[in-house]
Formats: sequence, C-alpha cells, structure tokens
Amino acid sequence: MLDQTTATITERTALKINPAKTCQPVGAMYAALGVHGCLPHSHGSQGCCAYHRSQLTRHFKEPIMASTSSFTEGSSVFGGMANLQQAISTIFEMYDPEIIAVHTTCLSETIGDDIPTIIGKCQIEGKVPEGKVIVHCNTPSYVGSHVTGFSNMVKGFVKYLATSTGRRSEAVNIIPGWVEPSDMAEIKRYAEAFRLAAIMLPDTSSVLDAPTTGEHSFYPKGGTTVAQIRAMGDARHTLALGAWASSAGAELLEKQCQVPHEVLDLPIGLAATDRFVSALAKLTGTAVPQAIEDERGRLVDVISDMHQYLGGKTVAIWGDPDQVIALTEFCRDMDMKPVHVLTGGHGQAFEARIKEILADSVPDANIKQQGDLFLMHQWIKNRPVDLMIGTTYGKFISRAEDIPLVRYGWPILDRVGHSYFASVGYTGGLRLATQIITAIQERQDRDAPDHAFELVL
Ligand code: SF4
Repeated sequence: MLDQTTATITERTALKINPAKTCQPVGAMYAALGVHGCLPHSHGSQGCCAYHRSQLTRHFKEPIMASTSSFTEGSSVFGGMANLQQAISTIFEMYDPEIIAVHTTCLSETIGDDIPTIIGKCQIEGKVPEGKVIVHCNTPSYVGSHVTGFSNMVKGFVKYLATSTGRRSEAVNIIPGWVEPSDMAEIKRYAEAFRLAAIMLPDTSSVLDAPTTGEHSFYPKGGTTVAQIRAMGDARHTLALGAWASSAGAELLEKQCQVPHEVLDLPIGLAATDRFVSALAKLTGTAVPQAIEDERGRLVDVISDMHQYLGGKTVAIWGDPDQVIALTEFCRDMDMKPVHVLTGGHGQAFEARIKEILADSVPDANIKQQGDLFLMHQWIKNRPVDLMIGTTYGKFISRAEDIPLVRYGWPILDRVGHSYFASVGYTGGLRLATQIITAIQERQDRDAPDHAFELVL
C-alpha cells in the first residue's frame, strides 16, 4: 500500500494526489445543519449531494438530511431554475423546514444559475409559506475547500437574516469555526461560565450528536434559531474563532450591522484557550471563574508530568488551516517538534503563521498551504517522525511508514468519539494531550525488548 510513493519531491502545480481537503458544499451543508429546523439544499446533481451527505454521515455516524435539485442532462443545458422551483415547493410541502439553505455545486456554478433571482421568483409566486425563509450561498468547488464552503454558508445566513434594529443588546456573537458538535457545546459552556449572553452560529451540538430517544425527529432540538440569527445584528460584539472559517461572517456582520468583531484562533491547546478566556473575561469585565482556572491547572499538570514522553518528539500535522495552526502551537508548547505542517486549504497567511509559531523551535520545518498527502508522505520518507496528527486519510501513510497516528480534524471515518468529546478548551486540550501521550507510550511498549518492558510508565 502506497508503495509507489517516492522520496524524490518534484514540483507539482496542476496535480493533487490524495488531497488534504474536500469540496465546498460539504462545509455549507455542515454549517446549515447547525441552524434549527434547517434543511440544507444542494443545487446540482444527485451525485454531489449523495457524496456530501455520505461523508458527513461517515464522520458523525448520524443520518444527514439534505435535499437536491436533481439535475439531469436537460438542466445542464437549460439551467436549473425549474428544478430549484419545484424542489422548494416539494420541500415545504413534504418536509416542512423553518428554513432552506441552498448551496450551489460545480455544475450549477458553471451554468451560472442566479439563485437570488430564483428564490425571489418563488417568493413572488407564493411557493414560500408565511414565516418560512430561504437563504443561499455560492460554493463553487473548483476554488477553496470545505472550510470555504462553511464560511460562505455562515455569510449567507448573516446576509439574508442579520438585521440591526438600532438598539444594541448585551449579546455577543460567537462564530465557532469548523469544530465538532462537542466543541460547540464546550464553547457555549465557557460563555455560560462567564455569564455571557452568547449567540453562536452555527451550532451543531444537539443536532449531530443528538441522543437516541426511540422517536425519529427530522429536525433535532439543537441549532441556532432564525430569530437568534436575526438578533445577531444587534449584538455588541462578535468573536470569530478561526480566521479561515469564521472571519468572513464576522466581517460581514460588522459591515452590514456595525457589530465590531475580533478574530481569534480556535481555542485548541493551552495558549489559544488562554487567549479565548482572556477575551471572554475582557468582554464581561469579570475574573476567570475558579472552575476554569482549575481545568487549566490540570492541563498544565499533565503536560509537565508527561514531559519525558513529549519533549523533542517529532510530529507531522495536516488538516484544515484553523485547526492546524492551533494544533501546531499546542504541540510546540508541549515541547514537541512539528517538522512537517501542511494544509489542503489555501492562503499564504497559513505558511506565515506556522513559520512564526515555529520560528524558535523548528526553524527548518516543512510548511505548505494547498498541499496534499502525497507530499506529506514524501516529507516523512525524507525525515521520519515519531507521530502523525491528522485525518483518517493519513492511516495509509501511518501503515506504510509504521508511525502512530492520532486522528484529528475532518474527516474521521474510522473511529468514534470526536463528535462527543471536545478538544477545545482546557479539558479538550487534556483529552488531546492524553491521546498524544497514549499513542507515544503504546509505541514505546510495542517496541520495548523484554528487559525494558515496564509495568509503570
Ligand atoms: S467537487 Fe464539484 S462535482 Fe465534485 S462532488 Fe463537489 S460539488 Fe460535486
């Protein structure tokens, strides 16, 4: 498996092998699922929608509801207006969502379907029932990644719904970035600990980690409500977590409704969580709650107790830009050496930020935006590492090179737990640190000769 990967690296500009990203509509669908009573709608052919739904289902182990315009050859030639109009009528009649979130696909983008005009026509023709809403975003998959799609869908909700009444509320908007449902719940817990009135968009907690109750509900109880999204325009501040996934939505809120915003890293690891906690303390004018201080202390305790296993260990990290930036900083802070760092996403700012994080500890690290896993494998062949941290797709490299893999990011298709146990915040950092330490200790046990096979590590 992966036997053909060579150590000789050739410059490639027009070819990706084993991409480290997926396409935009997956992200748009994920963001839309974080809105209460929302049915994501894929304006394109059935195959796209089936792929996006199945990837989300495989990652979350939950059935994913989404509809499609079901393009045929005729739609490809004449455009998809009739399909979308029919779809909107059918969806409201049969599935009764509060809101439909339409995203485009490669095909409808290439045709050039004008979605706002089609939505407007449906409204004029009475196809949108009283009190129901349709929003849309463009997600051409030949640019960007699933994170771009997530960002575009958040922008779509803001554009269509957020309004300023002229009266500022006490609420603070949080755009949580591309994180798990468990992480979104944890971010809300932090806001509650500071008694902050937060509106979070999107919020997939209690949607994609909803419990089995014995009764099927098409629209689980979680998700940001349409009323909450409208109220975001009156909030006093927006915290955007993760520049790639969240800053565009926050910028639009500022432009459209004059809500000031700040962009923070995803609160993964010690330093990034410190910055998030400081921002919450500043916004509320309160001290950090003792319970949060204690959680921080536990994380610091474990990192320092386990330094002998972490210090100097080399690691390869790949995934979404926001996640990789926070993970790289966390590994550096645990005295590990991230020697290969790659994202499938785009933006020179990614490389600049990773260079800055590793300037003192690993100045010669390999860093790449718009990279792929073939390149990551080649880097590892040239400079082997102690540990790999990234998505399920890395398991083939892990097997080929016999290197332990800690699964992190999108997607994880072959394990459970990620959607139920947070990795943000101090307790999330503790979980992540223990996963890393466990992977290193298991390898140490596996490789130890009998005389060095210890009961206590
Ligand atoms: S890349 Fe384009 S054609 Fe392929 S699944 Fe995504 S939206 Fe559909």
